[in-house]
Amino acid sequence: MRRALRALALALLLAVPVQARAEALAEVDPARTTLGFLGRDRGRPRPLALTIGLDRPVPHSIAIIDGPPRLVVDLRDTRPPDIAAGDPLSLRWGAAPQGGARAILTLPGPMELMTARMGTATDPALTLQLVPVAPESFSPRTDTLTVLRGVPQPAPSVGGASGPGDDRLRVVLDPGHGGFDPGAQAGGITEAAVMLGFAREFAAALRAQGIEVVLTREDDRFIPLERRTTIARAKGADLFVSLHADALPEGEAAGATIYTWDGRSNDRAARQLALRHDRSDMLAGLDLSDTDEDVSRALMDLARIDTQPRSQDAARHLVAKLNEAGVVMHRTPVRGAAFSVLKSPDIPSLLIELGFLTHADDRANLFDPDWRERVAQALTRGILAWAADQHGQGTAQNAGP
Ligand SMILES: [Zn+2]
Repeated sequence: MRRALRALALALLLAVPVQARAEALAEVDPARTTLGFLGRDRGRPRPLALTIGLDRPVPHSIAIIDGPPRLVVDLRDTRPPDIAAGDPLSLRWGAAPQGGARAILTLPGPMELMTARMGTATDPALTLQLVPVAPESFSPRTDTLTVLRGVPQPAPSVGGASGPGDDRLRVVLDPGHGGFDPGAQAGGITEAAVMLGFAREFAAALRAQGIEVVLTREDDRFIPLERRTTIARAKGADLFVSLHADALPEGEAAGATIYTWDGRSNDRAARQLALRHDRSDMLAGLDLSDTDEDVSRALMDLARIDTQPRSQDAARHLVAKLNEAGVVMHRTPVRGAAFSVLKSPDIPSLLIELGFLTHADDRANLFDPDWRERVAQALTRGILAWAADQHGQGTAQNAGP
């Protein structure tokens, strides 16, 4: 019943119309709109740079879709420019379905978004860079509704089980930040780098126990927050774990903390961290914030009904094992927060602050390979205990009221 309710909620979520805003519309400036390849032509695919001139900064969203590979840019509160079909830039303009303007550009091949920046009021323009990728690592959005709405695609089969014929536990690890978003920094060391290193060690510990692991990034690159959850869904994750070691929020105690989703959290420190995490995405213009409208939020909550307790169970198991391993934790080790990466309505998701890079004791731990190994092993034991618990309760849970 709850599962059916959740499926219904997801279906409704994708169908909710978005209200238009009654404001003066921004204008596209064709004279400041440019498109070109970067670097020398050596007969290989080259990076692409696109600048869309505007008369003021606007909220926007960007997606890459396939069939053929195309870039879709939606500019909210913007009048679709009246540019003839023969536009030399081969950008096609039209009205975005939810209001505003939409530009579509057919790409020369599979590409991914490298950077996206909306200029300020003194230099209002959207600047994008795309880089070619190999066909096998091309990951376009496949559902046009999600392109419009920024809502994660529903999993093909609801529930925790992975693909058919494979009942191995599958964990997606998400090393926080990356690329032009370094996260917290302490003397030239970035959170992005420390978390990538830890994610690799943690992945090795999990794999040694027969757990399948996918990392959302394997190198120092920017991955939009929403894409991180999409990767988890595409891989059929049983559990999504985002790894962080941020700057210690003001007035906050150090120590490891595990966060689960809470859209109504009043936790001040968590809000500070959420803002910090989301800022790069907002700068990149990839915050498809329609999902935060009230109706969507209510439906999202409904869709989350049986995922949420499973996330909390996971957090509880991890805390127990970290305690056993003598890892110093915050006095409230499990907290709720509205972190965007925890938004998946159908995949149990956690965000772990292993410690705070700006705090001397935490930093010393994070730089200590023995401490990291102890934490990786404890988290692995926690995940195994959680999975065993889930397995035991599976049928009982589904038979609920
Ligand atoms: Zn972080």
